[in-house]
Amino acid sequence: MKQSRLFAPTLREVPADADVVSHQLLLRAGFIRQNAAGIYSFLPLGKKVLHKVEAIIREEMENAGSNEMTMPSLQLAELWQESGRWYSYGPELMRLKDRNGREFALGPTHEEVITSLIRDEVKSYKKLPLNLFQIQTKFRDEKRPRFGLLRGREFIMKDAYSFHSSQESLDATYEDMKEAYNNIFSRCGLNFRAVLADSGAIGGKDNHEFMVLSEIGEDLIAYSSESDFAANIEMAPVNVTYEASSESKKEMEKIHTGEAKTIEEVSAILTIDSSKIIKSVLFMADEEPVLVLVRGDHDVNDIKVKNVLGAAAAELATPEETEKVFSCKPGNIGPVSVPQNVKLIADHAVEYMVNAVAGANEANHHFQHVNPGIDFEVTRFADLRFIQEGDASPDGKGVIRFAKGIEVGHVFKLGQVYSNPLNASFLDENGKSQTMTMGCYGIGVSRTLAAVAEENNDDRGLIWPLSLAPFDVHILAANSKDEIQTDLSEKLYDELKDAGYDCLYDDRKERAGVKFADADLFGIPVRVTVGKKAADGIVEMKVRKTGEMNEVHVKELIEAIK
Ligand code: ATP
Ligand code: MG
Ligand code: MG
Ligand code: MG
Repeated sequence: MKQSRLFAPTLREVPADADVVSHQLLLRAGFIRQNAAGIYSFLPLGKKVLHKVEAIIREEMENAGSNEMTMPSLQLAELWQESGRWYSYGPELMRLKDRNGREFALGPTHEEVITSLIRDEVKSYKKLPLNLFQIQTKFRDEKRPRFGLLRGREFIMKDAYSFHSSQESLDATYEDMKEAYNNIFSRCGLNFRAVLADSGAIGGKDNHEFMVLSEIGEDLIAYSSESDFAANIEMAPVNVTYEASSESKKEMEKIHTGEAKTIEEVSAILTIDSSKIIKSVLFMADEEPVLVLVRGDHDVNDIKVKNVLGAAAAELATPEETEKVFSCKPGNIGPVSVPQNVKLIADHAVEYMVNAVAGANEANHHFQHVNPGIDFEVTRFADLRFIQEGDASPDGKGVIRFAKGIEVGHVFKLGQVYSNPLNASFLDENGKSQTMTMGCYGIGVSRTLAAVAEENNDDRGLIWPLSLAPFDVHILAANSKDEIQTDLSEKLYDELKDAGYDCLYDDRKERAGVKFADADLFGIPVRVTVGKKAADGIVEMKVRKTGEMNEVHVKELIEAIK
């Protein structure tokens, strides 16, 4: 590609509203442009990198036996009503109507669509397991779109879904997917870690997030200094459970009777016995803190419990909508799950405690009201445990350390969370009808690109790893008025192209300084400058990452670039 033809509008100034370095540099280097909050165009250089990320993902997914396909972004509301998520997903789900008033969602994820497809097409155990993926634009009306591509409202995701006739089969695929993810993020040159995660909006049990360790990460990870233990801090407090002592319970009664009112009073009670907990989950529902507390003998990861928690949180966000969930399926909670915007905020837990109690009361009341049949109770109070840096790791090996992470991937064992309500069943060896078991596996493709940019740059610009660079080699003639230099540049450009390198040749009539600055900004791994020694067949080769510069004879250039 000749640079005179390339659309890469670079900026010298740091854009005012870009607060992280990847966002700034991707804008400055002309890789992306913002269209509206959280909505971006990929300009040609950005698109080239995106293609490379996608190619790596595609290759590793196909190696792991996943089939590529494409599903629609426009999804019928009916499907989301069947799963219950139409009511529980919250305002992150973008909803619209067609000309006849029929309701649709713009897909934030595709569990409903794929499950409805597979239930109609796959009827026998002989066709299972099945693993399908797509790379596609997703829509989520994020409350705070920010950090450029890292949290968009329209973004590119790879999502995969697997269907199984048994838990063992799901377990095997889950391990294959984790391995594929390790390969993908390694090939992208990222420093990442797989961490135990909470299953949030999607439901289901086992799940891991792939976190890029980064100062700007929005997730907090607790990991052991001495072992493989690593958990999203969202998960950690509900992972380790203790019964509260009766004394502590008595004290905490004061919180729920309202005797303790202020933040100070509540926190004083909580610190009395902070190592003992009854399971508790603090949600944020639409900015409203909601603490739902579950007695120690119930498993908060149990899907029924999750449903209740989700319903409770959803109710507090939009009571009418939750009512719809229950009224459409009387006596059956259905797969209501925790809304996307619900998050455990350990840092601010105490602050929210006071308000939260009221929320839990309401949730409890609501649950009792709609579901008198089940043996289950959302109690109104409990202790909340804060994991601290320096605590013993839950596996007994080493102590807890904290790090921030960017979630680039997420693998879930969904079990039957979707196949149940959507009736995805198959006939087993004995001709008996069984419900399918499912897994799902996501990667933020555009977020991965931004995470790579965030972790690979210097004060002059981006520094792409070889695997993702928009071009392999950047050639430029220092003096574009010098015919010896431009002739040699053209020649090298052709030779390198013939040798299979993807080259960008800066043929613009610009000053050398401008060309160098743009080259550093783009971050192509190798720069070849054709300068004063062109007549002797000598050029300068510079490695973007290390800054290492060498003079090379053109005859040895291809060898040197390898
Ligand atoms: P987050 O916790 O950051 O909101 P999530 O847990 O809601 O992400 P998933 O539902 O697990 O996201 O989606 C799969 C992947 O899609 C995530 O691991 C992440 O890499 C990516 N992703 C999710 N939301 C966004 C977004 N708003 N912009 C860009 N990528 C996203
Ligand atoms: Mg999210
Ligand atoms: Mg998440
Ligand atoms: Mg996730």
